[in-house]
Amino acid sequence: MYRDDHGGHRERLVSYCNRLLDDGLAVGSAGNMSVRAGDEVLITPSGVPYRDMSAADICVVGLDGTVRGGTSEPSSETPMHLAVYAATRARAVVHTHSPEVIALSAVCDELPAIHYAIAGLGGPVRVARYTRFGSEGLAAAAKTALDGRSAAILQNHGAISYGATLAEAYDRALLLEWLAQVHRLACSRGEPRILTDAELAEVTAELRRRRYGEARPRKDGP
Ligand SMILES: [Zn+2]
Repeated sequence: MYRDDHGGHRERLVSYCNRLLDDGLAVGSAGNMSVRAGDEVLITPSGVPYRDMSAADICVVGLDGTVRGGTSEPSSETPMHLAVYAATRARAVVHTHSPEVIALSAVCDELPAIHYAIAGLGGPVRVARYTRFGSEGLAAAAKTALDGRSAAILQNHGAISYGATLAEAYDRALLLEWLAQVHRLACSRGEPRILTDAELAEVTAELRRRRYGEARPRKDGP
């Protein structure tokens, strides 16, 4: 049994790991996810099938990678998660082995702006060059590919996304997989039209305006 106050995070991680399987973003124990809580990171264990995973299996590491708790070995991709926390304001990181993204990564250097929703990821999504799983090289490549983006594709491997919450990081992983699927469908019909930088900038500005609009108190009554 664990002795810390991260109970809510632990249960949420287990729940989202099961969604990963249900949504087809990974199989078995592939992929991994984490949540930052202060100067600690809660991360899924290495090699534990998601269907067998319990809250007590979640590992706790410091931002420097020091293991602080857990009965299992932390995910082999812990260096990649820590690199994202060091470089961004991420509070949660999700790494998938989702099929559309992996297929695209074997053929393309980038997922272009085929649909305006890609603005929610920061724009066209880069494909980081192949590097062995669990390596510091992969952590560095992911960090570089995430510059100005909240998601990146790992060549011949999978995807990584982050967010202010686990729900946001997970939704971005789902959006990325959907965008890769739409791109494949478009390419199967011919040469797709890609949104221009100006069109994407317009979408980004509109999204920002609408978000600010929601946050602003209404003056004109209900
Ligand atoms: Zn992986």
